[in-house]
Amino acid sequence: MDRIVNPKQVYTYEQLVKDITKLKQKFPDLIQVEVIGHSIENRKLYALKLGKGDREIFINGAHHAREWLTTALLMVMVETYSEAFKNNQKIGGFDVKEILSKTSIWFVPMVNPDGVALVQNGEQTMSNANQLLELNNGSKDFSSWKANIHGVDLNRQYPADWENIQNDPGKPASAMYKGPSPLSEPETKSIYDFTIAHNFELAVAYHSSGEEIFWKYRSNGDLLRQSKKIADMISKKTGYSLIFPGPNPSGGGFTDWFLDSLKKPGFTIEISPLVGPRPVPISFFDKIWNENKEVGIMLAKEAVNPF
Ligand SMILES: [Zn+2]
Repeated sequence: MDRIVNPKQVYTYEQLVKDITKLKQKFPDLIQVEVIGHSIENRKLYALKLGKGDREIFINGAHHAREWLTTALLMVMVETYSEAFKNNQKIGGFDVKEILSKTSIWFVPMVNPDGVALVQNGEQTMSNANQLLELNNGSKDFSSWKANIHGVDLNRQYPADWENIQNDPGKPASAMYKGPSPLSEPETKSIYDFTIAHNFELAVAYHSSGEEIFWKYRSNGDLLRQSKKIADMISKKTGYSLIFPGPNPSGGGFTDWFLDSLKKPGFTIEISPLVGPRPVPISFFDKIWNENKEVGIMLAKEAVNPF
């Protein structure tokens, strides 16, 4: 079968744009494409809606620049579910057509396209190339970069106990800087606005690496019980471990905010065995896909019934 998305390559922003266009052409009734904002360098922040259901869930990837394999993962997920819907095939035990007639999955596969471009192509095309080199200690190897090109860590930007985020360097850096204020960056403001404009039953943020699931943050009561139940399902499906945070977890992450403010389950899933500060090798993709291929459709099914 001819596939549009090829995850066995350095998966760039340009490739993402091409693949989104082709997927929309191939599945015009099933996929809806929206531009929900722009990056600092004016790259488009794409959202894809897959499905025809009224209930909605949200899955995003690549908040962190070096974690671009999560974008490839989500694009393969979009295409695989679209094919299954069209051909009336099941994935695992899941009836894709039935589930995606009740629930729609919104994907934002690349939250941080400038950062991804920096990791993959270096600083030369960036408008602030000199500043970026300085922040990278003069090195032209940006493969360990996590932030956006302002040097702000986009997963420390959300208004969930932002004031008390731990281990903040206090100035722009390749990672960990929470920014001058919550949602100061166009990428996170766009995700925030998009999220509150919808009524998502749950959300997932894909990251790498470590084969772990963050699911709890500061939830309690019914939300804690619901979250634990779904986290166990994801853990069983992927083999990844649940993280049990201490009494005072550092906030600012997308799913921290989603849990804390919207009071709905939110899961940060770290794909791949630990690889240290670099992109996950493409050679790990098949293993990662096998672990995660049912996650989106399983969660869409969970959201069919109100929590
Ligand atoms: Zn990350």
